[in-house]
Amino acid sequence: MKHINWLEEVEKRKEDLIKDTQAFLQIESILDEETKGEGAPFGKGINDALQFLLHKGEKEGFIVKNVDGYAGHIEFGEGKDLVGILCHIDVVPPGDGWTSPPFSAEIRDGKVFARGALDDKGPTMAAYYALKIVKELGVDVQKRLRIIIGTDEESSWGCVDHYFKHEEMPGLGFAPDADFPIIYAEKGILDCTLTQESDSRGEAPNHLLSFSSGRRLNMVPDLAIARVVGDSSSIIESYESFLGEQQLNGSYNLTDNVVELKLNGVSAHGMEPRNGVNAGTKLLQFLSAFSFNHQANQFIEAGSTYFNEDSRGNKLGITSSDDISGDLTINVGIISYDESKGGSFGLNIRYPVTQNSDTTISTIKEKVAPYGFSLASFSDSKPHHVDKEHELVKTLQRVYTEQTGEEATLLSIGGGTYARSLEVGVAFGPLFPGRPDIAHQKDEYMEIEDLVKATALYAQAIYELIKK
Ligand SMILES: [Zn+2]
Repeated sequence: MKHINWLEEVEKRKEDLIKDTQAFLQIESILDEETKGEGAPFGKGINDALQFLLHKGEKEGFIVKNVDGYAGHIEFGEGKDLVGILCHIDVVPPGDGWTSPPFSAEIRDGKVFARGALDDKGPTMAAYYALKIVKELGVDVQKRLRIIIGTDEESSWGCVDHYFKHEEMPGLGFAPDADFPIIYAEKGILDCTLTQESDSRGEAPNHLLSFSSGRRLNMVPDLAIARVVGDSSSIIESYESFLGEQQLNGSYNLTDNVVELKLNGVSAHGMEPRNGVNAGTKLLQFLSAFSFNHQANQFIEAGSTYFNEDSRGNKLGITSSDDISGDLTINVGIISYDESKGGSFGLNIRYPVTQNSDTTISTIKEKVAPYGFSLASFSDSKPHHVDKEHELVKTLQRVYTEQTGEEATLLSIGGGTYARSLEVGVAFGPLFPGRPDIAHQKDEYMEIEDLVKATALYAQAIYELIKK
């Protein structure tokens, strides 16, 4: 086979690629309970986007399949072995503040602006064109390649659950739904909710009426609010000096004997709590200087003992680390307390790829039990990791370096990407190093140049993975 200039092959089709990407982005593929029905489990918009792509594939002469509206695939090639590219066509709601309407797919300054441009409809179209190029070049292949089209990555991943229950799992594959060069390791993600048994024992000078901080387990809370009845003047005085010492922003308010304390922290993604300041655990630290009834004391003590300023689980005794993925991290994303019910802590723990969560869970249970807390619920998404010597990783690295001239560094992350739903899968693009990640934000866009570059990378990757 003569040398193929992949970028040139994409350039030849660039006009169509852009037009098709725009048309695809103009479909409002947001989860919609109102319009869901038989064959369209996530509503009309998502179903329209799925039909759009499958119809295109069919016209092009690919084998296509719609798997009950949950997912679909576009297949090319022959042979026993199957390679997968896992994409998704659902998008998060656009929100406000867009410069041009979020589903207009307007092009300005070499960028196409739309909800889904980067995550993940732009890259999905790039993968489709990549496959189309490989087909049009008429190369000899010995494997099959499937673009698997998921439809609810942004909510429950019911699409891939359903798809892989009924369809073949590729022997290997990649998901163009994160970063270039290659993400080969993703930590395990353990979410736990600890709740306190209510206990009315003990009288004390102060009452903690309520406490609330954080709304999502995977975010560092940037606000905490406590409502306290008691020695108001000493509480307020101490609070002022606490804010000064800790160099934190906060405020207080006294109405009808109730002191409301507000503390501001710094929000950050839960995968690295050190990038933020947890307003919740800081406010518990302040409250730990006061005496409340038994239940409130236990709540405050558990929180300030185990969770304050300790994102590695040292105080809980759950630290672990490996060379591939680094430290276990723990984020206390939600803290709440109600005098009549007791308290609760919502934890988001990300553990290294070579570990499992069993001892972590049992240690936590053991440590919080003396404070009247127990594990009310948990969910565990296992770590995901492909060996760095694996043929898949080696091939994608070679393709990336050949086309970009850059080293294809292997990335390990605390987050979870769509690649974890493949048995052997890595994330491969579409965001190039140094580009801002504007997925899920207003004015989401994809650089046309990057769309072209990603298409060329995917085309060669497909070729190298399925060629004879
Ligand atoms: Zn995505």
